[in-house]
Amino acid sequence: MINRRKFLQLSAITAPLIAAKKSLANGLEGTIKPIVVSTWDSGMAVNAEAWKILSKKGRALDAVEAGAMQIENLINCCVGLGGYPDRDGIVTLDSCIMDEHANCGAVAGIERIKHPVSVARKVMEKTPHVILVGAGAQQFAVENGFTLESGELSEDAKKAYAEWLKTSEYKPVINIENKKTNGPFAPNFFQDGTANHDTMGLVAMDSMSNLSGAVTTSGMAFKLHGRVGDSPIIGAGLFVDNEIGAATSSGTGEEVIRICGTHLVVEFMRQGLSPEMACKKAVQRIVKRDPAKAKTLQVGFLALNKKGQYGAYAIQKGFVFSVKSGNENKIHESKFLI
Ligand code: ASP
Repeated sequence: MINRRKFLQLSAITAPLIAAKKSLANGLEGTIKPIVVSTWDSGMAVNAEAWKILSKKGRALDAVEAGAMQIENLINCCVGLGGYPDRDGIVTLDSCIMDEHANCGAVAGIERIKHPVSVARKVMEKTPHVILVGAGAQQFAVENGFTLESGELSEDAKKAYAEWLKTSEYKPVINIENKKTNGPFAPNFFQDGTANHDTMGLVAMDSMSNLSGAVTTSGMAFKLHGRVGDSPIIGAGLFVDNEIGAATSSGTGEEVIRICGTHLVVEFMRQGLSPEMACKKAVQRIVKRDPAKAKTLQVGFLALNKKGQYGAYAIQKGFVFSVKSGNENKIHESKFLI
């Protein structure tokens, strides 16, 4: 008969074996965590902010919010109040956030609020809703203690808008890279050296293996007033499934919405594809619909799975993304289709 001592000795040996077997069965051995991946080279500073939380075993949700806030604080052409305005000269911001329980919140077309990502989080945590838009979103923000900023354009935005007004051509500017620019990470700039995009999408996995993501943007420069892109739309600009992985996007939002882009990427990962292959298949879906049009626009997807593996794919050359984990802290160039 097995006595208590022997039983304890036996379980001391078998318990780790059972745990290891379980993890092998899950296919999660060798998982890299915590980890955060962000769109564009501006993601390096965003990741650094998120890492302050992730490295202290903090929650991925807090990390992605902090990361998004970092870039919302900057004068940047495409994120936050320093962003380029719509064609009426008004900066309108879109943002969303999603956690490991599929809780999510978003704001679209919000004006004069510095941190739309934090308003999105409040929508998620304090209301039974997912998206608030325009004046209603602003009212909710103010009621929840957010300051109403002046709404004046940044110096860069003023200049760019004045330039745009000369022709007022309704052709919203999106991530078509200046392929003549030198250097692998330079293409997200206009020929005059100003960046033409930077929508920030980031997804992270924390030390508890929980995933979260956030997106923040001022959307396409000189868009129609009221236009909403993919960035605040759950399943388009961001999707998180804590069993499988998470994905985000940047580029022509309309094309991403048409294929429910990030949801599609996560579903491809569920079918067993690597993050890079999942992103590639989503890009192919866009290109297949209208190959001629696809040549004129850019969309990039970025994905992270439960093993901490990441990957990206874009329609065209020029999409880059930033990765921070215990193993690395760098910018990667995405593969592309055309
Ligand atoms: N996806 C954003 C939008 O369509 C723009 C961008 O990524 O630059 O609003």
